[in-house]
Amino acid sequence: QFPFGRRLPCDIYWHGVSFHDNNIFSGQVNKFPGMTEMVRKITLSRAIRTMQDLFPLEYDFYPRSWILPEEFSLFVDEVRMMTDSDPAWKPTFIVKPDGGCQGEGIYLIKDPSDIRLTGSIQSRPAVVQEYICKPLLVDKLKFDIRLYVLLKSLEPLEIYIAKDGLSRFCTEPYQEPTLKNLHQIFMHLTNYSLNIHSGNFIHSDSVSTGSKRTFSSILCRLSSRGADVKKLWSDIISLVIKTIIALTPELKVYYQSDIPAGKPGPTCFQILGFDILLMQNLKPVLLEVNANPSMRIEHEQELSPGVFENVPSPVDEEVKVAVIRDTLRLVDPQKKKRKDDHLLCIEDFYASLCKSSLHTIGKCQEYSHPSLYTIISMCCRCQVSKHISEADEELLDAGRADGPGYNSAKSPEAGLPSLCLKQVFPKYAMQFNHLRLVDRVAALFIRFLGVKGTTKLGPTGFRMFIRNCKLSNSSFSMASVDILYIDITRRWNSMGIEHKESGMCLQAFVEAFFYLAQKKCKSLPLHEQVALLIDFCEYHLAALDEKRLVCGRG
Ligand code: ADP
Repeated sequence: QFPFGRRLPCDIYWHGVSFHDNNIFSGQVNKFPGMTEMVRKITLSRAIRTMQDLFPLEYDFYPRSWILPEEFSLFVDEVRMMTDSDPAWKPTFIVKPDGGCQGEGIYLIKDPSDIRLTGSIQSRPAVVQEYICKPLLVDKLKFDIRLYVLLKSLEPLEIYIAKDGLSRFCTEPYQEPTLKNLHQIFMHLTNYSLNIHSGNFIHSDSVSTGSKRTFSSILCRLSSRGADVKKLWSDIISLVIKTIIALTPELKVYYQSDIPAGKPGPTCFQILGFDILLMQNLKPVLLEVNANPSMRIEHEQELSPGVFENVPSPVDEEVKVAVIRDTLRLVDPQKKKRKDDHLLCIEDFYASLCKSSLHTIGKCQEYSHPSLYTIISMCCRCQVSKHISEADEELLDAGRADGPGYNSAKSPEAGLPSLCLKQVFPKYAMQFNHLRLVDRVAALFIRFLGVKGTTKLGPTGFRMFIRNCKLSNSSFSMASVDILYIDITRRWNSMGIEHKESGMCLQAFVEAFFYLAQKKCKSLPLHEQVALLIDFCEYHLAALDEKRLVCGRG
């Protein structure tokens, strides 16, 4: 651990919380700039809504959501309209404060007027969301799934999903929400951090019992009941890819601002925690994305009143060690240099990490740095238990249909269990590339940002975009362009998202772009209008580049 920095460059930097170090000029960093901001409840809802506007059917895995306080009246009006048209609809809503985690500040309501608008919502915005009333139950309990996803690269997009995840259970039998049970958090909220305080919480000593189990154990149960688990996995993979596609445009804006192209800088990767709920009909629903998922593999046990001890948690260990191990293998910088004979393979990386960790664990505890502490102690334990798990896995893998299990003895990775992280993108890119329209809009936005290091477009940049793409004409003058810029930018900046920089943020640009697309090609579905306008802009910009190249040569 180098709390005060380090002069010699590293191959891999493992930050605890977020990307924050602008003095890294090479190597790989385990966080993307802007990821923490992107997965906050409001930002995620906005990003998904943009995609729902373009592709409503493809993005129906996210519950209908409204942003408070700004959309409070819209929320009230829409709910009234829906109840008027379907009097049998008796909805429940869940209110979640922005930036909250571990169930903090969350409550359920039956009527929009029950929102606690006094004070707190004004000072702390929130998302109000349709509550999924009919979740899939196991042992009469509601549960959710935590899946680990590795975003290995943004450009080109590379996504891996862990073959196993965690299922976190409520601790009171589920009943559909009524006015009487709305406040019963142990029945409605699956957060581990809440349910651990219920007297009914069962620490699992196997992966298929208790209040936290592996997702694979649930799949086995479902499969034995005749459920189509292949379809379920394929729906989950779609949900993950589509969610990341919704996040990438803005992530790219953050990336170019923190790590400008063409200058020395690190490359980034990140492990994300996806929280997913299964509906009774096995449809997966996205609850949230966690940029800094807990990698703890222990839980606290109260030995005697007030005396706690950390004890291993087999379920967490089973899932999380494999995720970290595979992540390190996939981003292993040595892979690229394997032509050399004496290579520091990933095993040695663990070993050296463990050696240094022996000296730093005490310090980490002192600094109360749980993430780093957990990873280091996990890697140590990984060394100890490796041989046992290797034997286990070899047996399991032998019976698996999807792979040889172990790498060939000649490979430098021989002896490591097979990958638990499976590539899903670009593997399935063909099925999803048509959704990446906002990515192309973001590329236009970035082109006109001008000065590197910014995330917002100034009025001159916006005018240049309009001119270079030949979007102004007699019915859309440059004066109207300026008015459009001012109107949209002012509205977005008044939403209190961030005031650090002035100018037009990406979402405001996307809104302006959609407006222009609708104006240009009326009476088509929105996604076709947008695709046509992107083609139009890209065509004119390519022609301009060509012209400049010829002039340059001349
Ligand atoms: P937090 O970040 O505070 O954990 P979540 O969005 O994950 O917030 O919500 C907390 C819990 O509430 C979830 O784990 C889930 O059990 C429940 N929950 C959240 N949203 C919904 C929803 N739309 N329908 C049903 N249950 C939900």
